[in-house]
Amino acid sequence: MKKPKKTLSFDDVLLVPQKSDIESRSEVDISGHINEVKLTIPIISSPMDTVTESDMAATMSMVGGLGVIHRYNTIREQTAILKETLQHCSHAGAAVGVTDDMGARATALVAAGASLLCIDVAHGHHTNVERAIKTLRDKFGSKVSIMAGNVATAEGFEDLQDWGANVIRVGVGGGSICSTRIQTAHGVPTFQSVLDCSQVVDEAKLVADGGIKNAGDIVKCLAAGADFVMLGSLLAGTQQSPGEVFKNSQGQRYKSYRGMASREAQVAWRGKARSLEGVATTVPYKGDVEDILADLTQNIRSGLSYSGARSISEFREKAKVIQQTSAGMNESRTHILSR
Ligand code: IMP
Repeated sequence: MKKPKKTLSFDDVLLVPQKSDIESRSEVDISGHINEVKLTIPIISSPMDTVTESDMAATMSMVGGLGVIHRYNTIREQTAILKETLQHCSHAGAAVGVTDDMGARATALVAAGASLLCIDVAHGHHTNVERAIKTLRDKFGSKVSIMAGNVATAEGFEDLQDWGANVIRVGVGGGSICSTRIQTAHGVPTFQSVLDCSQVVDEAKLVADGGIKNAGDIVKCLAAGADFVMLGSLLAGTQQSPGEVFKNSQGQRYKSYRGMASREAQVAWRGKARSLEGVATTVPYKGDVEDILADLTQNIRSGLSYSGARSISEFREKAKVIQQTSAGMNESRTHILSR
């Protein structure tokens, strides 16, 4: 084994404030493109059964982001969710797996209007994903954008880019509900993966995915070279996430949030569970996701303005990253309550 490489996590780094002449956050453009689809905010909702069905996907599109509808149901059910989404909004993505029904599912989703197909597997640097990208490209040409992943390394990113993915999900083992690193010992801190993969970006867009817990982490991802971020826990527990709101004995409201490789999610979609790599939990009910997205968006714009940047590309050029110690991290958190 080679000498281990040191890696950086979100909380290990900070961005240095720089001279700015930005008067208002509205001057900061945080938009990006996936082929001809323009996203005015760099946020994509995760294809998980407690995050993205029609309400979430429609709202994401309406506010300028993108929703990717999960694949943990029948082709008929997923297609119906997609059609419902597209009755009032312009674009939505939808996930497929790599085996069995992939071709039929993809065909049904594209016929129903999906503008992006997401090949959604835990270990994306895999020949199954190569085959799946090539199959979808042969079937649909360039009329459908292909998102694939997840990868953790520059080698993985380069391969998926060469195989023809338009958008690549970067991050393995970092999700808030993920136990992959504990159960399999594999993974790379998401911030490090974004830094590494950003070095080899050519045509493909980079989506940072897993472990993003606040707007600051989103800003760090954009500084490190991400075009977009994919969010699970930050969007879970909202009015638009699938599932019931329930109350505990003190009257507090909750919703469920679960990893797609958790026992509960696996039993729900295929009747049995094996090789668990995720957990199921509840999160406090947060209300309308539009409010959450509005707050995140304001903070992202502020983030860019602290570096004096008016666009994501300018931000990437200008951002100065420093490493902080754990004492620095303690100072960074609101700390009066722990004194
Ligand atoms: P979060 O935003 O930190 O909650 O992470 C969400 C991301 O975790 C998703 O977009 C997936 O990439 C990943 N994920 C979803 N379910 C699982 C699981 O069961 N195990 C590991 N990772 C998962």
